[in-house]
Amino acid sequence: MNKICCKSCKSYIYSQVKLDKFQCLPCKLKKTPSVLKCTACRKSDGIMIRANGEDWIHYNCMMALKDLLHMEREQNIFKDLC
Ligand SMILES: [Zn+2]
Ligand SMILES: [Zn+2]
Repeated sequence: MNKICCKSCKSYIYSQVKLDKFQCLPCKLKKTPSVLKCTACRKSDGIMIRANGEDWIHYNCMMALKDLLHMEREQNIFKDLC
C-alpha cells in the first residue's frame, strides 16, 4: 500500500494508487477539513471526498461502503484530485 499524504493539511490515507503530489479536495477547494462532517461517520478531519452535492465522506468510510454504494473505482476517485 502507498501512503498518500495531502501536501496542505497533512492528512493521509493508504491506497493502492500511487500519487506523488496529492492535495485533498477540501484543501483544493480552500475548505478546512475540520469543519466538514463525514456523511457516514459524522466525524471531521481526515481525507474527505465529495459524496453527493454538498455532502462529504471520508475516503476510508467510502472505501468501506463502496460496494454498497456502487461507487466508482478507486482510480476514478483520484482522477480530479491530481
Ligand atoms: Zn488536505
Ligand atoms: Zn467518516
